[in-house]
Amino acid sequence: MLNYKKYKIRKMPTSVALIFFRMKGCVFMNKIYLRKPYYESLATGIPNTKTLGYLEHEITHLESEHFKADKFAILYWLNSKIRLKEELKAVVSEMRVYKKHKEKFDIHDRAKSWSSINYFWMTDYQSAKKTLEKAWIHV
Ligand SMILES: [Zn+2]
Repeated sequence: MLNYKKYKIRKMPTSVALIFFRMKGCVFMNKIYLRKPYYESLATGIPNTKTLGYLEHEITHLESEHFKADKFAILYWLNSKIRLKEELKAVVSEMRVYKKHKEKFDIHDRAKSWSSINYFWMTDYQSAKKTLEKAWIHV
């Protein structure tokens, strides 16, 4: 277990990492988990931008009133509007890290992910791309 700000960060169990093979991090039962490469990057003490981005992303989920009230995030998975709202908030936190480090955020990749099984098709690719482009400008 590692520390980041006031949070304890755990390594994502291999079984979860295998099933959700595109997931970089997650919040479960009010705990933050990071996939191995990002967990290891954090362990170096000088985490890369991606790792810092994922950390801020998961912290935003953890601190969300919605996630606090529903630690299993049932509504998140049942309601695609809530899912999209929560993801947008988390991605904005992630984008702030990229802007701070003057790095490019891969909007195409994220739009693909948002419109895939990863997020249970919470939106279509074009809408996701438009939403993410707008968010990137305003971050
Ligand atoms: Zn997320």
